[in-house]
Amino acid sequence: MALLWQIVLSSLAFMGLSLLLFAPLESQLSARKNPGRAPWGDWIHFWANPTIGAWVALTGIAFLGAILRALLPASLLHWMGDRPWWVQVLLALVLAELWGYWAHRLAHSVPLLWRFHRVHHSIEHMRWVSAHRQHPIDVIWTVAGANLPAFALGVDLRPLAAFILFERCYTVFLHANLDCSYGCAGRFIASPRFHHWHHDAGETGQQRNFAGMFSCLDWIFGTYHPPDRPPEKFGCPTPTPQGYVNQILTRDPPGEIGN
Ligand SMILES: [Zn+2]
Ligand SMILES: [Zn+2]
Repeated sequence: MALLWQIVLSSLAFMGLSLLLFAPLESQLSARKNPGRAPWGDWIHFWANPTIGAWVALTGIAFLGAILRALLPASLLHWMGDRPWWVQVLLALVLAELWGYWAHRLAHSVPLLWRFHRVHHSIEHMRWVSAHRQHPIDVIWTVAGANLPAFALGVDLRPLAAFILFERCYTVFLHANLDCSYGCAGRFIASPRFHHWHHDAGETGQQRNFAGMFSCLDWIFGTYHPPDRPPEKFGCPTPTPQGYVNQILTRDPPGEIGN
């Protein structure tokens, strides 16, 4: 119970930190005309989803990781245990980013997964507070794979804590109402404009630019769309549920897949 309270409070602190960082940034450098107040549901998602993600990672995924660890060859675990901590951390990051890319791509092509992931694509105005508009099942799908390899291989997650906080802030930054790309470096590191193209309502979006941090994964796997100008419209091709409860219930999804 103490762990749950710690997670709940740290999610609230993260929301406060994001408000302090990104609200002034958006008000000074907004890329598009002020779209008005964010829906209340987005504030609930912003608090609830990191809470659910952290809880699932530290309980269910840690448990699954322990089972998987018992099934892995002892030679692999010894090899991993003998590596310096920074090699273990680097390997955990690479595995997490690779999983993140493919889990996201699958969420756009497997109808059952798209049913949940389309909640994230119902965003019609990019804002920092919309970053965590996701169905809880979509959160669990993403968090499970990203953390499972590290738990199974017995990687010490403490050195990763600072990076995890940075990555969470970076995800919020990618969804903010800001327009920036990084020139040539944008082929390696995801920028807000790179991710905004993934939310494009037209034909280009949704099957492009899946990576969360390293856009070079899209480059390697052939899904890179160069962010040479900002997209014009965001959202799903068909109307999507509005309001927190409707988004969680995902009633009557249209017969579409994320393309
Ligand atoms: Zn997004
Ligand atoms: Zn997506």
